[in-house]
Amino acid sequence: METILSIRNLDKKYGKVHAVNNLSFDIQKGNVYGILGPNGSGKSTTLGIILNVVNKTSGNFSWFDGAISTHEALKKVGAIIERPNFYPYMSATQNLQLICKIKGVSYDKIEEKLKIVNLYDRRNSKFKTYSLGMKQRLAIASALLNDPEILILDEPTNGLDPQGIHEIRQIIKGIAKNGTTILLASHLLDEVEKVCSHVVVIRKGIKLYSGRVDEMTASNGYFELQANDTKTLVQLLEKHASIETIKEENGVLIASLASELSSTEINKYLFDNGVLLSHLVKRKPSLEQQFLDLTNNQ
Ligand code: ADP
Ligand code: MG
Repeated sequence: METILSIRNLDKKYGKVHAVNNLSFDIQKGNVYGILGPNGSGKSTTLGIILNVVNKTSGNFSWFDGAISTHEALKKVGAIIERPNFYPYMSATQNLQLICKIKGVSYDKIEEKLKIVNLYDRRNSKFKTYSLGMKQRLAIASALLNDPEILILDEPTNGLDPQGIHEIRQIIKGIAKNGTTILLASHLLDEVEKVCSHVVVIRKGIKLYSGRVDEMTASNGYFELQANDTKTLVQLLEKHASIETIKEENGVLIASLASELSSTEINKYLFDNGVLLSHLVKRKPSLEQQFLDLTNNQ
């Protein structure tokens, strides 16, 4: 696998604020990464550091296996870390032509990129007539002009209406599908779940989890149980190898699972040992609950 970016023990202090705390993770080609954390957790600072616009306090990061200088590497990176800003009285095409000149890219790219972000039909409208979502999409087109290896986005759907949010997410997924690696920062679990294959969860600059999104959310679930003889029920559950923890909530026992176990299996086990259940439901914790557990328990 090709490593696009490697971050090791990265640290950033703004005076007393420890914005990024000993952060390490890798970005492999072709994946979609989310840096997920509440506001103020150090996401934008991390992106700023790897893009050379914020100075790190200590630690290291290296682009493309360190084979080229950061300056050279950043020519292969497309990034939007601020609110998109273009010339208001110029059209989308004119704005992108200007950027092509600055980046030394052929005008031929403009049509292709405007089509990717669904703005080709509006290419001749002045930027000032664009909605916030369209402005954000134009920013994505502009970041794609030089065919970057990786696209970096900071809170790409902030401030957009539901339709605008959906559109941006679809576009990001499309770009990823065509092989561009993506790194986006978001405070929205839902966004990371919908768009990303991999996630780095941070809180107060500290990494809490990194790995595949589907593994973060992997859980064997839990049973809700009730029986007349609660004492025996608890004893039997405690003896069962698949039961991890047992707690009581409003007269219902909650038994979380360490490994896969079906309702039929647990029912038979309890019945065979003389306990008749009056209530049995198998549930999985919501993704939101798992995220809250992850960010609160450490
Ligand atoms: P996020 O993007 O996850 O919301 P930031 O990286 O913007 O988080 O901020 C992380 C922490 O660093 C916050 O406590 C924030 O107030 C602080 N911070 C960010 N930028 C500066 C700065 N330029 N000067 C001082 N403190 C800053
Ligand atoms: Mg931020």
